[in-house]
Amino acid sequence: MDVTTVRERLEDMLAELDRSIGVLQGDPVAVREHSAADAGSDLTDADRAQAMLTVATAQRRAVVEAIKRLEEGTYGQCVDCARPVPEGRLEARPEAARCVQCQGKRERRR
Ligand SMILES: [Zn+2]
Repeated sequence: MDVTTVRERLEDMLAELDRSIGVLQGDPVAVREHSAADAGSDLTDADRAQAMLTVATAQRRAVVEAIKRLEEGTYGQCVDCARPVPEGRLEARPEAARCVQCQGKRERRR
């Protein structure tokens, strides 16, 4: 994948995440634009929104960091072992910061 394509994908993801985060935080404009969002909020919906917000916020951070790596010229390198992250993995998850092995290690540590 070339840098321009990656950047476009990351920026699209960022815009999408910003919109989702706006909806989840109850921004009335975003909610109106996002007709799928349920305006009624019982506790379960609030809990679900909170969980989605946590995921979206973490993913947004990953996307922002990926754009930064793109600018620094280190994009596509694993941030832990500095080996190249496989192309296929970056296609599936352009914001991936680690190779499969390092990501696996990290997730096992949690
Ligand atoms: Zn690695």
